[in-house]
Amino acid sequence: MQKLLIVESPSKAKTIGNYLGKEYQVLASYGHIRNLLPKSKGINTDTFEMNYEISPRNKKHMDAISNAVKKSDEILLATDPDREGEAIAWHIVEVLASKKLVGTKKISRIIFGEITKSAIIEALNNPREVAQPLVHAQQARQALDYLIGFNLSPLLWSKIRYGLSAGRVQSPALRLIVEREKEIEKFDSLEYWSIHLDALKDKAKFTSKLTILNNQKLEQFTITSAEQEKKIVGELLLKSSGKARVSRVEKKQRVRNPTAPFTTSTLQQEAVRKLGFTTRSTMITAQQLYEGISIEEGTVGLITYMRTDSMSLSNEATTQIRNYLESNYTNEYFPQKAIGYKTKAKNAQEAHEAIRPTNIERTPQNIKRFLSDQQFKLYEIIWKRALACQMSPAVFDAVSIDLEVGKGESIFRATGQTLKFAGFMSVYLEDEDDSKNNENNESKLPPLEVGDLLDVDKIIGVQHFTEPPPRFTEASLVKTLEEFGIGRPSTYASIITTLQERDYALLEKKRFVATDVGKVVIEFLTEHFENYVDYDFTANLESQLDDIAADKKNSLTVLQDFWGVFIARIKEKGDLDRTKITQKEIGENCPKCEKPLLSKLGKRGNFIACSGYPDCDFTRSSNGDLPQEPKVIAQDEASKKDILLLIGPYGPYLQLGLPIDGDKLKPKRVTIPPEIVLADLDESTAKQLISLPRDLGIHPETGAKIIANIGRFGPYVNHNGKFKSIPKSENIFEITHEFAVDLLKPLRKIGVNPDTKSSIDIYKSRFGFYMQMDSTKVNLSKDTDLDSISLEKALKILTKKAEEEAKKKPAKKKPAKKKPAKKKPAKKKPVKKKPAED
Ligand SMILES: [Zn+2]
Repeated sequence: MQKLLIVESPSKAKTIGNYLGKEYQVLASYGHIRNLLPKSKGINTDTFEMNYEISPRNKKHMDAISNAVKKSDEILLATDPDREGEAIAWHIVEVLASKKLVGTKKISRIIFGEITKSAIIEALNNPREVAQPLVHAQQARQALDYLIGFNLSPLLWSKIRYGLSAGRVQSPALRLIVEREKEIEKFDSLEYWSIHLDALKDKAKFTSKLTILNNQKLEQFTITSAEQEKKIVGELLLKSSGKARVSRVEKKQRVRNPTAPFTTSTLQQEAVRKLGFTTRSTMITAQQLYEGISIEEGTVGLITYMRTDSMSLSNEATTQIRNYLESNYTNEYFPQKAIGYKTKAKNAQEAHEAIRPTNIERTPQNIKRFLSDQQFKLYEIIWKRALACQMSPAVFDAVSIDLEVGKGESIFRATGQTLKFAGFMSVYLEDEDDSKNNENNESKLPPLEVGDLLDVDKIIGVQHFTEPPPRFTEASLVKTLEEFGIGRPSTYASIITTLQERDYALLEKKRFVATDVGKVVIEFLTEHFENYVDYDFTANLESQLDDIAADKKNSLTVLQDFWGVFIARIKEKGDLDRTKITQKEIGENCPKCEKPLLSKLGKRGNFIACSGYPDCDFTRSSNGDLPQEPKVIAQDEASKKDILLLIGPYGPYLQLGLPIDGDKLKPKRVTIPPEIVLADLDESTAKQLISLPRDLGIHPETGAKIIANIGRFGPYVNHNGKFKSIPKSENIFEITHEFAVDLLKPLRKIGVNPDTKSSIDIYKSRFGFYMQMDSTKVNLSKDTDLDSISLEKALKILTKKAEEEAKKKPAKKKPAKKKPAKKKPAKKKPVKKKPAED
């Protein structure tokens, strides 16, 4: 007789089948095998008994399992190690029992957090029974979602629009998006100024910022107009008489620790930020890596289970990572003791491991040819993050200095920091959402001492505008949901997908914008069902589900408590007036008949109509989102279009002409850099700005173009993909070809590779110095004497590095742009292209 092992997915079945001998048959259920009965038959709201039917889609798979059970004497339920997996196992046993197929057969549940041979053998040696608390927790979640959806949706149909639905965890998530939208709508951008002093020490120039003016601390809104700024700058110039004195020097070391290995939430956030994935594509790709990929050694699960909120690593995994570090890095790159990470999740039973590679020796480069582009990119960040989490902290040397002018009643502050030791940052660095802090950026100050008298190069004011809170990205939404305790590892991606499928929110430039209908639904729920869009209420319900899973709470009590209050509210709200929900006065009268105008929710969002309808038929569209009346600044000679000045929620910008309906291309827009004072923005500056990028001619050595442009981090020049920031002291429209060539020049030319004629040079980067030959770069440590590196030595190091590149390449922040050579044909899912940065 055979042993039968049951899992939920065919690819997982295939991987496990390859590990186990002929005595095992492995079959897949293809997901959940049973659904709740439709409509009110699904749940008896007196007893909370749940009634299921086999889903038509899974019938043939369940039949195959039933037939195999007849021929087996032992059945092993090996579905995924979480509540969903436990529930699937339970349903399978229930169906088999109802068919009287189990009888005296031995049935057990086995779990493993990674699909590797050793993990499966280990699991086979530790069988257990199906854990009822986990099953109950999954059922209680299903019941809550079903009861809310089934009873609240019809109310939305009769009060707002047919076909709408309300989800238990989607609604609070939508409320986050809608509330953010409201904050942005009512946001007034305010003007403020900062004052900067550029000082010279010998020939080194550095900039500092005014913090104390005439013995008063400078606040954000101390200076709010150009007139004020001009006056203050004038006074400061006069008082300084061209000199500033160093009054304080403070040196500190700053340490930055590595981040914990990935959980579901952090993996989704980083895949969105770094790779441009969606949360959904992240989970699909992670599942493929978890369930098994065919590589040289056979089909293997490459990562541990991808639905987890645990940050811990097994001792074996930690040891493996440390061994890898020991044989590939010098001792300073990893601490003497392993680094432990504490998990916030409270369910010990479900405490899986963090997401990590099943074998750290399988480097991304080594298995690249077996992976799709998406699989490779995701595996690479998982691998790097797991490695980095056991590495030494990065160390920065930070300096803060004060410069006083006049008699010391006004003080400017400059800060600088240099990376002393990159540690884990040489492998992996976590990105941040909408971060304005550049705590890892390098900015160097010359050596200074208290009492030094410096020459003032200039004192200038810089205009700023306050910005509204940014709209949520998929990454920041997942992060916020996790912080609020809404949703769990298994639900973040589905929350986000559902919001878009229901047209409640859409992604514009990768950021969530609530639709009109989404706003009306949230307004309705907030007013009449406040609990069900309340963040604390939802988080509390989630934690009650956790308690059920931990066998600390009875699911019946949780459901009864919820249901009594909820159904009473549904009944109470049955006779609300529909028009009050979908129509709002806008405080303006009809130009035709003088009656009040209303904003009404129509099929394609809100529109404005007369309250006198049907007697008066006045309507107009409600384009409330135009920022303001655009101001014509100049005319573009090439296109003959107007150059318009607009102020958006993110400050002022220029736009070339108005968008024409039906135009696929949005009009060209250019952000006005903060150095340009709006009041001084004249025709010629506007024309220059809209004409960017600027062509600076051909590089004398390579023959390739040099371009100047303004990007997210300010003005830069670009040549052959090499970017160099234009120093703040220079004007992007005035820099010359010679200046750009000079800026692009390496710090030192070491020489030329005699075989390939490729030049070998030393450059400076954010993190220090590096040598480069073609695309191969090698970082130089801080204490390297840059002048003493010989061509032979550089050539040897770089050639070795180039050869080894496939094996162990220290991480760069951005994944390589080159497409991997594809051995396997792409899967059906189209690979989403990462859109260009805007
Ligand atoms: Zn009217």
